[in-house]
Amino acid sequence: MKSMLTATLTASLCVMLAACERGAAPAAAVDAPSPEALTEHSAEFRREVIKVTDGVWVAIGYGIANSILLEGDDGLVIVDTMESRQAAAQVHAEFAAISRKPIKAVIYTHSHPDHIGGAAEFAGPGVAVIAHDDVGAHMDQLASELQPVITQRSLHMYGTKLPQGERVNIGIGGFLNLDAESTLDTVRPTQTFGEQLDLRIAGIDLQLRHAPGETDDQILVWLPQRGVLLCGDNFYKAFPNLYTIRGTRYRDPKRWAASLDAMRALQPRYLVPSHSRPLSGADPIASVLTDYRDAIRYVHDQTLRLMNRGLLPDEIAQQLQLPPHLAASPYLQPFYGKPSWSAKSIFAGNLGWYSGDPAELQPLPPDAQAQRIVALAGGLEAVDRQITAAIEAKDWQWALQLSGYALRVAPQHAAARDARIAALRALADAETNPPARDWYYTSAHTLAGDFSVPRREGKPSAAMLAGMPLRVFFDGMAVNLHAEDTLDQVIRVGLIFTDPDARYTYTVRRGVSELQAGIADDVALQVRVPTQVFKETLAGLRSPAMAIARDFDMERGSKLDFVRFMQLFEPQ
Ligand SMILES: [Zn+2]
Repeated sequence: MKSMLTATLTASLCVMLAACERGAAPAAAVDAPSPEALTEHSAEFRREVIKVTDGVWVAIGYGIANSILLEGDDGLVIVDTMESRQAAAQVHAEFAAISRKPIKAVIYTHSHPDHIGGAAEFAGPGVAVIAHDDVGAHMDQLASELQPVITQRSLHMYGTKLPQGERVNIGIGGFLNLDAESTLDTVRPTQTFGEQLDLRIAGIDLQLRHAPGETDDQILVWLPQRGVLLCGDNFYKAFPNLYTIRGTRYRDPKRWAASLDAMRALQPRYLVPSHSRPLSGADPIASVLTDYRDAIRYVHDQTLRLMNRGLLPDEIAQQLQLPPHLAASPYLQPFYGKPSWSAKSIFAGNLGWYSGDPAELQPLPPDAQAQRIVALAGGLEAVDRQITAAIEAKDWQWALQLSGYALRVAPQHAAARDARIAALRALADAETNPPARDWYYTSAHTLAGDFSVPRREGKPSAAMLAGMPLRVFFDGMAVNLHAEDTLDQVIRVGLIFTDPDARYTYTVRRGVSELQAGIADDVALQVRVPTQVFKETLAGLRSPAMAIARDFDMERGSKLDFVRFMQLFEPQ
């Protein structure tokens, strides 16, 4: 009897499982938002200082992110500080009109530049700057090793160089308040923590909690007496940026969803994100946060399911869509992140770059692939005809891909370039995800020669550079070495820094840098330089030729040889 029951159960389970196997991948087509919906989304960022509840204000629309003011008995706390000194000054003026009490502390919800770039506006001497333990290291990496590529990609994604008429909003803010004249004025944290920090500042009880999500160094700021939760970038009114197209290390959706669960458990009566407008009411907040975490878990879990069934990243991206009840949520519109991009990131975050298709193990390089595809099509003229047909059919993505092959084979080919610009503009016109839209428009303009996108935007303040460890500048040098010029050389340079004093030996050994403390006996060159001069020279605030001529003192070897040594590195 028992075995019959087992057999029946097993059989029915098999049938059920087989049915699941056959079932289509989770998908229910939901239309992308309309261009009008994106335009309406701009209302989210209209410039305003909103009083959330007693003692809590949030400034919206002064740049990409919000800045939050907490008023206590005898002082103020500022949470997040905008992207530049100039943007922060505008917010500071608004906050000063609300309260003249002294600022006691600045809190960073995380290390992204749009939350820390204007800190010096608020954080004078004696003001505590509080953040997660890892914020300093993340700040440094963005400011040195990855600075050029992240800057260029950010300016594409935020459409910072686009003419006014082509911008709508950037999904989580109206615009990025940054140009070549902007001052980047971050202050390094003076107090950090790992998991939890409870504080009383100006009579305000603050509970800070590590809450990894959009970044690993994200924190929550919870005001238990007032039921106010400041959630940084773990929630905003757009589908979460589980992957950002400007490039990022892996954002683990499971940890992000767990942080949302921690937020739900607090049962906040007010929710103040660092982008988009605040929410109030325990029930609506609970409902929105539940949808938000469900959307993240859905995308994560179903991506893994499809990975386990052997689908390739692009197949998963194409299939995966939110269930209709989540896709319809005004808080989950793909105005910033997208489920499709998230799926590819989740694939890479768990399995790395290899899709599993052996043709992608060691593929032809892009130029060779383009040559063969053009030949396969019957030559460039044949490709031109296909591009024209794609444009006429409004098959913009195909026109974009085809024109890419043609331009790899013939970079000066005007017809392909013009078609590519037309395709990029058409894709941008139809796109309602601002990062993609702005990237298409920016690419169209750079291809047309209207403008170029700089490798650096805004100038770091001298004070910000002074706060950065020397190690950061050496990290930047290492990844900017012209390795190919040094493959048969070993060059050792002694660097003596003054004010504060430090001594290093920088070795370039056949394509690789090594930094050691102290001055080695066999250095070919030895130079003495004030620490700040060295930092400002590497950060582009001083001309290297001028600085070396005037402020670098040679103790061994010639200045000309030292200039030659510095020319082994790409300008940072
Ligand atoms: Zn942000």
